[in-house]
Amino acid sequence: MVLSWDELTEGCKNCTRCELANNRRNVVIGRGNVNAPIILVGEGPGEQEDIQGQPFVGPAGQLLNLLLCALMIKEEDYYIANIVKCRPPQNRDPKDQEAEKCLPFLRAQVKLIQPKIIVCMGRIAVKYILKDKDVRITKIRGQWQERKDFLIMPTFHPAALLRDESKKILMWEDFKKVKQRLEGIKQEG
Ligand code: URA
Repeated sequence: MVLSWDELTEGCKNCTRCELANNRRNVVIGRGNVNAPIILVGEGPGEQEDIQGQPFVGPAGQLLNLLLCALMIKEEDYYIANIVKCRPPQNRDPKDQEAEKCLPFLRAQVKLIQPKIIVCMGRIAVKYILKDKDVRITKIRGQWQERKDFLIMPTFHPAALLRDESKKILMWEDFKKVKQRLEGIKQEG
C-alpha cells in the first residue's frame, strides 16, 4: 500500500476492517518524527491511549519515556506506533486476523518513514514483524535481526517491566545497542 500521510490518517480513522473498530474511542495511529531513523513498535493501544488517541501515554509509555530520556534518545530520533491501531477489549492480545487487517497501515508507515532501525517491543510486535508465530522473546531479545532495508531489535514490552523488575536491566542493554547504532547513523550523516 503506497499512501500519503493524509491518506493513511483518513484510512485509519475510517477503518472498519475488524471488530476492534466497534468499541474504540480513538484510532491510535502513531506519534513522533516522521523522518526519524528509528521506529518503535508496540502491541496495541491500552486504555489511556484509546482515550487520548496517542500511543504509549499510559503507565508503560511513561516507563518507556524514562528509559529513552536516560539514554538520551530524543523525541526527534523516533516515531512510535503499534501493530493494531485500536484497543483490544480488556487489553487482550490482538487476534491474528485483527493484526493481519491492520498491518498494511504499519507497513505504509514504515514506507513513509524509511527508518534504519525498527525496535519491536514485546512478543506480539516481534511475532508479526519477524513473521515468527512461535517466537520466544526471552531467546531473541537483544540480538540484531538484519533485513534488506533495516535492522530490527527485538526487546521486551515496557509493560513487562512493570510486572518484573529484573527485565529493566535487560531492556536497558537492548536500548543501549540501539543508541550506539543511532550514534553511528548520525555520524554517517
Ligand atoms: N502498550 C502498547 O503496546 N502500545 C501502546 O500504545 C500502549 C501500551
